[in-house]
Amino acid sequence: MFKPSCYSCRKKFEPSALRVSYSKNYCESCGVGLFGEDYFSFPPKPAPTTRRNLVVHGAVVLLVGGFFLFWMSVGGL
Ligand SMILES: [Zn+2]
Repeated sequence: MFKPSCYSCRKKFEPSALRVSYSKNYCESCGVGLFGEDYFSFPPKPAPTTRRNLVVHGAVVLLVGGFFLFWMSVGGL
């Protein structure tokens, strides 16, 4: 399974062990070293959800389906 990495030390962490600042992930030791107490005011990284994968999957299915319909309509002319 995909594990996000810390922007500073590049180690892999569980999403719950990371916090996000300007869409970059920081682990606690790097974040506290860089930002001090401010680190704890950053939002935690949201856990990846299967719903997002389903959205991507649905988009691919729609794209392929649309292309197939297009191909059928062109072939029917
Ligand atoms: Zn780090």
